[in-house]
Amino acid sequence: MTTRYRNIIPSAFRKTPRPFVPDAGLHFSNCMVYFDFDNTITSFDVLDGIIEQFSINRDWVAYEAAWKQGKIGSRQCLEGQLRSIRVTKKQLLEYLCTIKVDAHFHKLLMLLRAGGINPVILSDSFSFLIEYILQHNGIHGIKVYSNQLKIHKSQLVPSFPYTNSLCSHCAHCKTSTLSSEAFKDKKVLYIGDGLSDVCPAHHADIVFAKSTLLKHFQETERDCLAFTDFGDIYNYFKEHIHDAEGKYRYGAGSAAIS
Ligand SMILES: [Mg+2]
Repeated sequence: MTTRYRNIIPSAFRKTPRPFVPDAGLHFSNCMVYFDFDNTITSFDVLDGIIEQFSINRDWVAYEAAWKQGKIGSRQCLEGQLRSIRVTKKQLLEYLCTIKVDAHFHKLLMLLRAGGINPVILSDSFSFLIEYILQHNGIHGIKVYSNQLKIHKSQLVPSFPYTNSLCSHCAHCKTSTLSSEAFKDKKVLYIGDGLSDVCPAHHADIVFAKSTLLKHFQETERDCLAFTDFGDIYNYFKEHIHDAEGKYRYGAGSAAIS
């Protein structure tokens, strides 16, 4: 069950934080939903798994440590870590076939789409990996914004179409993408777990957080909704999101969507 950490969600853009009241004005037609991917839609960091499994040395450890300490941005980290990977496309796809998405993701998507919400994935990993995993898990039609990847002679060659020239912290500046994607009159719901989610989450109206992102929100006394898996978020949407007429669209006793 979703643990309500606090239900007041100050947006970084608001000078005066105002209380978020789920039953007053939150309905499917005025929400946009953004998901992180690794350790949010999946139960672990897929890219970390690939790096650990297919690296020919341990150079990635130093890059990881430097990134966590804030000494380098994620682009420099990713470029350094991918340099040591040797994997064929066949090996990589076999690995990706073993990865499952959150067990509640399908029904959560059906709920959102039934309400007219087309969620978006914002990731600082790579679209090739994400789209293959989604496809292999029977999930189609989600817009993915992420870094790009090509396989060339057993090496992974990254490119970064969503960098921010004003900030080198993330390879994919999720905040820039979110700002260009989201409509100003919509409420932004953000679901994530990690360091690359901290910045965009500060620009959301409602944040669902776990792991590092949750810890950050707690330590900085910002408000969010803690979640364990998408079953929590599914239940939250069923309980709190209304249809345009202000009625519960999928309240208790209504037809279940599964
Ligand atoms: Mg993540």
